[in-house]
Amino acid sequence: MRKNVIAGNWKMNKVLSEAEQFVEETKTRIPSEEKAESIVCAPFPFLPVLVEKAKGSDLKVAAQNMHYEDNGAFTGEVSPVMLKDLGVTHVVLGHSERREYFAETDETVNKKAHAAFNHNLTPIICVGETLEQRENNETMNHVEAQVKQALSGLTEEQVKASIIAYEPIWAIGTGKTATSEQANEVCTHIRNVVKQFSSEEAGEAIRLQYGGSVKPANVDELLSQSDIDGALVGGASLEADSFVQLAEAGA
Ligand code: PEP
Repeated sequence: MRKNVIAGNWKMNKVLSEAEQFVEETKTRIPSEEKAESIVCAPFPFLPVLVEKAKGSDLKVAAQNMHYEDNGAFTGEVSPVMLKDLGVTHVVLGHSERREYFAETDETVNKKAHAAFNHNLTPIICVGETLEQRENNETMNHVEAQVKQALSGLTEEQVKASIIAYEPIWAIGTGKTATSEQANEVCTHIRNVVKQFSSEEAGEAIRLQYGGSVKPANVDELLSQSDIDGALVGGASLEADSFVQLAEAGA
């Protein structure tokens, strides 16, 4: 019922020519949009060129962050108006690296989620616990609080259209993947939280990705879980062949 969404998060990698080549090599090989959604989350300077290159294909282009204001005196920032104008469709919000290094908070993630919907961008909202929180049995409470704050004030339709990426911080870029059971357990909890917080229908409709050292070798098992509807992939999304394999797994 829920369509898988596979998103590659390039982080701060590639130069423009490499990014263009990647889109050239993947855009005709990914599954059709009816089967699965395939998205590349690229650095800001590449976005207009990649949107243009991906036109007419099923590949969508996302930003990795944005500001919540439409415009103004925010030197160095990029607004949702700018992203929409370029043809960007999705935006990653609250990635753990932004929370850790760039002072992103649940409050700013929530403001950004509202701004995204105000400009017809789909937010991919990242949540997840540290290793210490997992070891102290705080995972469920922590993730629940992050989800509730991120979605606060959104309409039921907006909650339904949101994508939440559950990314245990200890599994990002470390080669340590959560077991598919661990990942699904948290995603089931997130879905139940959304059902209580918004509505049964919203909980059923919202799509939940897992992220954390996903690669072609483990993606099938993760996607076979009841509450996992896709993956947010860092390292393994940088190579065209690997990204295509991941996207195919979503179909
Ligand atoms: C990420 O960037 O969100 C991520 C999960 O990275 P990796 O797949 O490299 O762990």
